[in-house]
Amino acid sequence: MRYLESAKVASVSYDEIDIVVDQALKDYDAGRSLASDPATDKALSTLDPRIRDSAQREIKELRDMGIDERVGRARVTTEQQAQQKAEHEAQFGAGGYAATPGHSLHERGLAIDVKLYDEQGRLITSWDHPWYGIVGDIGQSNGLQWGVTRDGQWGDLRHLQLPYNQLQ
Ligand SMILES: [Zn+2]
Repeated sequence: MRYLESAKVASVSYDEIDIVVDQALKDYDAGRSLASDPATDKALSTLDPRIRDSAQREIKELRDMGIDERVGRARVTTEQQAQQKAEHEAQFGAGGYAATPGHSLHERGLAIDVKLYDEQGRLITSWDHPWYGIVGDIGQSNGLQWGVTRDGQWGDLRHLQLPYNQLQ
């Protein structure tokens, strides 16, 4: 995908997102659409109904635009959350982005972490990739909160959840 090659940027600007959205809409007009994958469908089935439909719509909208988004984590056990926190701290340093076990919305089925794949089917590992901005836009337009952790820290661009103000 040609426009991806210009996407190696330190931060994402709205202009860059507009360019990618324009291209995605052209792909959509050209009839390019991706099917869902079974692992994502299974992950979605574990979610609390309060976000399941929103997450399904968000993923379908992106895939209809030609953006291959899949769910990496949905509902997790407390043990899995503890493992995730250890991995985040190894990657990002003390604190990391992962919630303390017992306090993650993933443990309540109220959050997903998405994975994006390029047209060659390779996992996109850089969060600077402009598709993450589209994840945020489409996620929020479907009523999900994007990228924010419980303590208000910004930065986990893979993370979509039920907005905190809708929590009981
Ligand atoms: Zn998450």
